[in-house]
Amino acid sequence: MASIQATLQASQEQLIQAGLVDSPKIDAELLLCHTLDVNRSYLFTWPEKELTAEQTHAFQNDLQLRLAGHPIAHIIGQREFWGLNLRVSNNTLIPRPDTETLIEAVLNLDGIKNKQAECTILDLGTGSGAIALALKSELPHCDITAIDQSQAALEIARENAISNQLDVQFMQSDWFSAIGQKQYHCIVSNPPYIEEDDPHLNQGDVRFEPLSALTSGEDGLDDIRLIINQAWSHLVSQGWLVIEHGYNQAESIAELFKETGFQNRTLCKDLGGNPRVSLGQKP
Ligand code: GLN
Repeated sequence: MASIQATLQASQEQLIQAGLVDSPKIDAELLLCHTLDVNRSYLFTWPEKELTAEQTHAFQNDLQLRLAGHPIAHIIGQREFWGLNLRVSNNTLIPRPDTETLIEAVLNLDGIKNKQAECTILDLGTGSGAIALALKSELPHCDITAIDQSQAALEIARENAISNQLDVQFMQSDWFSAIGQKQYHCIVSNPPYIEEDDPHLNQGDVRFEPLSALTSGEDGLDDIRLIINQAWSHLVSQGWLVIEHGYNQAESIAELFKETGFQNRTLCKDLGGNPRVSLGQKP
């Protein structure tokens, strides 16, 4: 049987040779942590420890999945977002670090962080629940509702709320269809925004994510147009709309915000320095 260190070394080399993984070292470590049910520091504390036959078998199965291109988050069944451990499946988008930009943007909004009561937030297209749960973890006094059209995604989101002990209301709704007349202080969304024929859809992790969470018409803006248009009547006066979008969509969104009447328009950049989140306020 091979040791932890030898297993890491060999699997890392296989991942490098396959050439389809950006982070072979971390991927090998995450897979082995998953197999052994330990955290990463364990691997470096006990490098000589040998795997059992059963562990070796389980690890090799997972490694083959990764070599076939499956996202690491799907293989280990979870992804960390804003310090929360979230379960993910192929029914949800895998939360991205870039989306933490949206969380920061909301937390920086005037009055949101220190508002004591009556602050209501609606998360559209919640998927795994990442945005709604991260916001709830920072804003326990806010009343947060999250919708998705996918029942399968909502099941995952509800599980994540329970496992992280965060109280968010989840509802099945096709954007605003089940919202009624209710108005919110803040509406947030990471909607699908990729162009239908974007060649990147044939590469990497996105191949294993639901297309309905990724693409939105020819220019990627179909859902964003609808959201900006309909959010207006679901925001209180002074309420904010906060939307994640593609790096090249900021100008179109500024235009849509302006046409609809949103003011105090702001743009936030993601970790790579790309325009990623736009905010607008209803006067
Ligand atoms: N940022 C994601 C990507 O480029 C897309 C997520 C989305 O469409 N909301 O893969």
